[in-house]
Amino acid sequence: MQPVRINQWAADNSFLTDKKAEIHFGKGGVDNAEDTEDTAHEYGHAVHHAQVPGFGSSVEAGSIGEAFGDYLAVAVDEHAAPPYGRPLKADVACDACAADWDSVTHSNAPHYPHRINSDQTHADRISKVHTDSEIWPRAPPDIHTTPGPRVADRTTVNAQFGFAPDTSFAAAAQTTVATAQKMYGKGAADAVRTAFQARAIPGLI
Ligand SMILES: [Zn+2]
Repeated sequence: MQPVRINQWAADNSFLTDKKAEIHFGKGGVDNAEDTEDTAHEYGHAVHHAQVPGFGSSVEAGSIGEAFGDYLAVAVDEHAAPPYGRPLKADVACDACAADWDSVTHSNAPHYPHRINSDQTHADRISKVHTDSEIWPRAPPDIHTTPGPRVADRTTVNAQFGFAPDTSFAAAAQTTVATAQKMYGKGAADAVRTAFQARAIPGLI
């Protein structure tokens, strides 16, 4: 179980505290816990924290943490929305945007704080986790398309067990390729490598 506190922080933001491993959801505009992509994103931080205590102690590791949360948010929404009879993301025309409902009150359309289909590459880094996070998460969605969601999700989560708390994009990408090779063989490993190479992540051969 993951303890959460909702609407108890007077700021329009949310975070995981590692003191008690609690997720705190803020309020303001659309209260954060009202957006399932916000809740899934913060849960992504809890997953990282459970897998590798202290994860995110470098800028690139922190960016991967933000990126995984955004990927998880969009992937969960993809599964959760159709059974409720509404098209995925009916409110905005951006299937690859995370927390766009939370953002409707404080940004211009299209509403999103982050997207997972950015064309940014490793050369675009500016050493800020909430910006550099758009470099990493293009790869899991690319794998999500081919070989498919199950391979992408299982490979991504299993690989994260092997990430150092202060991992670099390069080391994490290498671990993810090796995990795909171990779990699914050469075809999957090649797809993962190609996805990270498209983001110009260094060190992949
Ligand atoms: Zn976050």
